[in-house]
Order: sequence, then structure tokens, then C-alpha cells
Amino acid sequence: MASALVHYTAAAVTDRGRKRSSNEDAFGISVEHGVYLVCDGMGGAAAGEVASSMAVDEMLRLLTSRALAAPLNLAAEEAVRAANEAIFSRSQRNPKLRGMGTTLVGLLVEESRVLVLNIGDSRCYRLRNRTLEQLTADHSLVDELVRMGRMTPADALRSPLRNVITRALGTQKEVAPDIFEHQAEPGDLFLLCSDGLTRELPDSLIESLLAADSSLDELCSRLVSAANKAGGNDNVTCLLVRAA
Ligand code: MG
Repeated sequence: MASALVHYTAAAVTDRGRKRSSNEDAFGISVEHGVYLVCDGMGGAAAGEVASSMAVDEMLRLLTSRALAAPLNLAAEEAVRAANEAIFSRSQRNPKLRGMGTTLVGLLVEESRVLVLNIGDSRCYRLRNRTLEQLTADHSLVDELVRMGRMTPADALRSPLRNVITRALGTQKEVAPDIFEHQAEPGDLFLLCSDGLTRELPDSLIESLLAADSSLDELCSRLVSAANKAGGNDNVTCLLVRAA
């Protein structure tokens, strides 16, 4: 087939979980512009909420108003740079927000071309032919130790250091996202999620839940319910994008 036309549909659910008093996760969707984002904020008091919602708002604003001629990866880098700058400078001006930051995982699509952006330990997965593949690498201390062969994946899950992330949006003057490029195929299902999902559920369970023949809304709800049933220790956000 010569046609490269791929259509996307999306759904998302975010939930406070069972232990936290507030929800510092945020998500953003513009199907029209092919922009999908999940952010998991961090910082004292309500600062995490401010950081994650600022990141989503800034990224959406910049990526939905970009000149159509701008190449997607340059637009993505510029949006990350500007969102980082906005969060960082606000935290410098307001002592209550000092040190705030957020993870960012994003999916930007243009026809069948897919860019995955990542900063921090939220994740992007792709389910293709019923097989789940993680498309991002966590910027976390334990993941780096595992990659260096100095910690086993099993120890990483239990480590007291597992909350330490090595890259975040808004905590420093500059930050560079990982950017991965993929080609979407009809039937692909992309999952963007916060660590409130992946800390509670093994990939094998996420894979089997996603393989069900259900609506995206239903799939999001089932993932969130499963995370809450498994402990619900953190805010949990799932955003699904299906290519057809
Ligand atoms: Mg979290």
C-alpha cells in the first residue's frame, strides 16, 4: 500500500492512588496536532502539581502553535527547552516552589512518524502483535546502576534509592530530552505512563491487560484499577494512543 496515512485515537486516566493526598501527575492530549504528554511532578507542598501542569500546558501551547514547516524534532527540542526555562525561572522567583520539577514522557506523531521524548522515569511502551516493548530508558539512579551492571533488576525494584531520578524538567537551567524515532504501524498501541503504574505492575501484566479487545477508555481504567489493587502507593496516569 502506498498510503502512509495513519489515524490515531487516544484516551487517558489519571488517579490519586490509595496513599497520596493529592495528584501531582498531569497529562495532555491534542489528537489534532499529534501531541500526547504525561508528567509526574515533584517538589514540596503543591510544587509538584505546579511543575507537572506547567510542563503540560507549555508543551501543548508550543507544539500546537508551531509553524507547520518546522521539523518535528526541532520543534520538540525547542518546546522542551522553553518549558524547562519557564518552570525553572518560576521556581527561582518563588521560594515555595524552589526545587520543583517534573518528569516528561511525550509522543509526537506526524503521519506514521513517531517521536518519543523522555526526561525522568515516566515511560513509553508500544504493544505490537501482542508484544510489549519499552521504548524509553529511565533516567533513574537504579536504572543507571543496572545498565552499568552494578545492580540487578530485582534489587533495583526494592532499592531505597529507586526514587532518585537523574534527569528532570525544570530543576536546572538546561536539560536535554532523549528523543527516539519510530514508524507507527496500524494496530500499534502506545502507552505513556507514570511510575505509579510501573512500580505496581510487572510488564507481563501490563502486556496482558493491553492485549484485551476493549476501548481505550476501558483499557486505561483497567490499568489504573490494577495498580490501585496492587497497592496504589503513588499517583497513577495512563495515556493510550492507538494507530489505525
Ligand atoms: Mg510518581
